[in-house]
Amino acid sequence: MRVDSNAKINLGLKVLGKRADGFHDLLSVFQEVDFGDEMSIEAVDGTLDVTCRGQRAPDGRDNLAYRAANELRKACKNNDLGARIHIEKAIPLGGGLGGGSSNAAQALLVLNSLWELNFESNRLRQIAEGVGSDVPFFVSGGTAVVTGRGEHVQPIDFSGNLALVLVFPGFSVPTPWAFSNLNTTLTSETPYIRFLNSVPGPVKVDLLELFPLLENDFLPLVSARYPSIERILAVLRSEGALGVTMSGTGATLVGGFLHEADAHSAADDLQDQGYETRVCRPVRRERQQDR
Ligand code: C5P
Repeated sequence: MRVDSNAKINLGLKVLGKRADGFHDLLSVFQEVDFGDEMSIEAVDGTLDVTCRGQRAPDGRDNLAYRAANELRKACKNNDLGARIHIEKAIPLGGGLGGGSSNAAQALLVLNSLWELNFESNRLRQIAEGVGSDVPFFVSGGTAVVTGRGEHVQPIDFSGNLALVLVFPGFSVPTPWAFSNLNTTLTSETPYIRFLNSVPGPVKVDLLELFPLLENDFLPLVSARYPSIERILAVLRSEGALGVTMSGTGATLVGGFLHEADAHSAADDLQDQGYETRVCRPVRRERQQDR
């Protein structure tokens, strides 16, 4: 079976505190985008085999898709189950786009069906949590308010479609480094948090209202170390972005544009300056709870 394994971007990322288990409690809006990897997954007997092409992602046991398939097999206590998984990677590694987590969630979803396990989404999310903090989100995808370590996923709808410019600045940020060097004053009252708290339900978020309010707590840390971040954000702003941000712990930067032509002109401009870019759109999932 062939499936798309899309990237996500974080529309804002607040770190609310450190937990007893060493992880951090977060508040973020995760948004799936129509840019990603392609996977082919087939059921075979007994062995798990994962291969990757592009982006230097690991093959075999170190790949998150392998870990996900293995956890699923453990959950149903049947070692006769096996799978051959191939991933054509397009999502940069260490870019804050959740590429490995997306692959892991797709492996769970597809193998749940190919192995005829019939686990419900909530059970799949539980298994996903053991694979990585961003994996539960990708079980449902679309748009979601994500809290806790990443395990609380509240799917919502969005209005106000925007063209998104993703800019890959040419280096990656290791997630453990970002969390351990974070030096943020924890504030509960910021415009971003106030806005999310005011969204009723929450059932729907208006991207046009959200974009100008985006805050990412990792941005000061990462831009202090890599001066090109601020230069790229300045270009996105000057080309007319409604809002700009960084995804996850970096280093992918995001600009949201009302008009597709402006998005392409910003992307072309940044490409001329030597940066890799991609114009994409947010992905909406119709029945997000049941996917
Ligand atoms: O869960 P995942 O493997 O993606 O996390 C990688 C690292 O990022 C963790 O070992 C931890 O240091 C940090 N992290 C965190 N709080 C989170 C998510 C990740 O401290 N909510």
